[in-house]
Amino acid sequence: MFPHNRDKSPGFGPVDNSKSSHVCWKTMEFKSASFNEGFWARRITVNREISLRYAFEMLEKSGNFDNLRIAAGLIKGNYRGYPFQDSDIYKWLEAMAWELGREPDKELLSMANWAITLIAAAQRPDGYINSYVQTREFPEPWMDLTNGHELYCAGHLFQAGIAFQRALGDDHLLNIACRFADHICSTFGLDKRHGTCGHPEVEMALVELYRLTGEPRYLDLAKFFIDQRGQNTMKGHRAYGSEYHQDHVPVRQVVKAAGHAVRQLYLASGVTDLYLETGEQPLFDAMLRLSNDIIETKLYITGGLGSRFDGEAFGDPYELPPDQCYCETCAAIASLMWNWRMLLVSGEGRYADLMEQALYNNILASPALDGKHYFYINPLMLRDAKYLRFSTELPSKEHLIPDQRPEWHDCACCPPNVMRLFSSLTHYLATRDAHGIQIHHFAPADIRCDLTSGQSIKLSLMTDYPWQGQVKLRIVETGNSQWALSLRIPEWSQHPSLSINGNMLRDLNLEKGYLVLERSWQAGDIIDLELGMEPMLIASNPRVDATRGCLAIQRGPIIYCLEDRDQEINGRLLDVEIDKHHPLLPRWEGDLLDGVMVIDAEGQFVDSEAWRGSLYRPVTVPVQGIPCPTHLVAIPYYAWGNRGIGGMRVWIPEKTL
Ligand SMILES: [Zn+2]
Repeated sequence: MFPHNRDKSPGFGPVDNSKSSHVCWKTMEFKSASFNEGFWARRITVNREISLRYAFEMLEKSGNFDNLRIAAGLIKGNYRGYPFQDSDIYKWLEAMAWELGREPDKELLSMANWAITLIAAAQRPDGYINSYVQTREFPEPWMDLTNGHELYCAGHLFQAGIAFQRALGDDHLLNIACRFADHICSTFGLDKRHGTCGHPEVEMALVELYRLTGEPRYLDLAKFFIDQRGQNTMKGHRAYGSEYHQDHVPVRQVVKAAGHAVRQLYLASGVTDLYLETGEQPLFDAMLRLSNDIIETKLYITGGLGSRFDGEAFGDPYELPPDQCYCETCAAIASLMWNWRMLLVSGEGRYADLMEQALYNNILASPALDGKHYFYINPLMLRDAKYLRFSTELPSKEHLIPDQRPEWHDCACCPPNVMRLFSSLTHYLATRDAHGIQIHHFAPADIRCDLTSGQSIKLSLMTDYPWQGQVKLRIVETGNSQWALSLRIPEWSQHPSLSINGNMLRDLNLEKGYLVLERSWQAGDIIDLELGMEPMLIASNPRVDATRGCLAIQRGPIIYCLEDRDQEINGRLLDVEIDKHHPLLPRWEGDLLDGVMVIDAEGQFVDSEAWRGSLYRPVTVPVQGIPCPTHLVAIPYYAWGNRGIGGMRVWIPEKTL
């Protein structure tokens, strides 16, 4: 089986669609883009310097490494944790690969190599690896595909192996991954064993493994696993039925988002990856139906997904409660990954808008500013900090009034998922095609790439995004031929304007959400884009009954919230109302929360005394209370809970009297 026909070309990022046939735009090589000083550079430094090292300690403390030591026969003991503990290590390793590929670090490299050696020691001679199964008294693989997560863990192993090959040219982990993938290929298939994993993830990883190695059997296996869904091969969840695993309907017949949100969105990523390679239209039609259902009825304003604790699941249409929501960090990350693939297929800016919404709000709210604490669940409202569920498990008694995000979780899927996303974030900035470059996200960065026509381009982006809407681009290098620079104009940008070398463009015609500037560019050309970042009040569809009559504050991509501690009177967030006729005023606070733009607003506290002792009253009996006018201060939602966890709300009732 070895050696594989490996692609030795310069390494790509998490998705390489350079040879995919059904694409609008192509991803760039991983080192094509690099961040300069700014919002993301700071967060990625925290991720690299603090989070990755801290995770290494946590993986040791939580038993993840011991599980592999036991599987390898290096120590004796009992397996600890959930069946999918291995995947935490693989996600962390993927993050390590992207970081080490960007810049060497001896300490991180030795941690990574040590972990890879341990994984190699635990792998069975036949290629199988899963410490949960291998540490059992009777270690029989594939006994419980529905709940076992063996293929889910395999998918994360493949992605980590791919990252080491692409970022560092190191195929040690990739060889381990391919040996396992080949073992799975020899086990599952139409003329072999049937079935698929209860938790999708392996599908997109297998497509990527195919892209890297050129081995068609990995693509065939991805298709096989996708086709197995909806064929009644699973038991169905005892409480939530077959929807929980997206096994209630064949993928091509999907009409709505259902079941466990992370599973649904990882599956959608794999299906879209399969479409990128095969062009099978019914697959993409199903993804469009799924996407429309989410956008129109099941998406939180923060980019969060999953309204229900029960089953960590999508709810009914318009069931979007702000307080009792789930909005798992991993679901928003999976949504970003899926929307990236939808963007690559379609060239529609709305998918980049969805990525941005998830990134700057739900995803960014997960890590604390210190890089050592993470939210798993991301509610849009916390009443009095008397009770906050951090995870699927109930908090222990002493955590009923928490003062910080937890340092780790029993089910620690989210922290290393944030780490691998942040460490590979430059991958998502821009794409290319034969005609030019498309800029999807705005950050201070240098971008260098060759167009698929062969022309070499270098660009420099300067911006104070997400705090200011000005983006300056400088053409640093260009060939002689004409090419197109496409800039996404976010949906929230009401009155964008643009000038080239100081000359204002009169008509800004957008193509699928992008401004396309095609010309013979010269080195030194300057493009000034002004997106406009006026604060806005946002209302929800009246069918979202939980937030009817409420407004949310948005400025640029950032959704805001009120934290109790910032208000004139504490403990009264339940009584607050916002005056929509008073202007919203942004104000820079450089020393607050690592530097944030706060928003000043005006409103009032309704007189709760007038209701004391009663929950209900006939509307014919007038309320006697006198409201108390108040100044309101809103902070970016992502930064909440960094000064102790207290009352918070994104949706604010509109002042009525
Ligand atoms: Zn998670």
